[in-house]
Amino acid sequence: MSDQDCIFCQIVAGELPSQRVDEDERTLAFMDISPATRGHALVVPRRHARDLFEISAEDLQATVLAAQRLARRVHERLGAEGVNLLNSRGQVAWQTVFHFHVHVIPRYHNDPLRLPWTPAPGDPDEIAATADLLR
Ligand code: AMP
Ligand code: ZN
Repeated sequence: MSDQDCIFCQIVAGELPSQRVDEDERTLAFMDISPATRGHALVVPRRHARDLFEISAEDLQATVLAAQRLARRVHERLGAEGVNLLNSRGQVAWQTVFHFHVHVIPRYHNDPLRLPWTPAPGDPDEIAATADLLR
């Protein structure tokens, strides 16, 4: 049930590199390559679903629970004082990758993030070091 052209299916399959930080039977979490803040990660169902309308109830539940797990971890291990969970459904709502995902965005006192943010590639070494703290 994967989509050959889908980059997140390729990440789930291990065909594209990613910094994995959490996984279970139904979900995978990995670092966003253009982090909005330090520790920004994405949680996806292993099974391809285009968006919020298409994902099954079971995968949605598992993905949200995995996002909660990771949100606790960014609080405990990165010292994030807050967290935004974000899902975009549809191009007009800023969805750019059409495999359902929940953004886990750690928030820090006085961080500069304002929505919508302008994505810019992060420093791979910095992302890898932060991923180590989240595993
Ligand atoms: P959205 O705009 O909500 O669809 O979010 C897509 C997110 O995927 C963006 O924050 C991108 O930075 C992120 N992204 C795109 N390609 C990759 C990749 N290969 N590895 C990790 N994150 C990615
Ligand atoms: Zn996919």
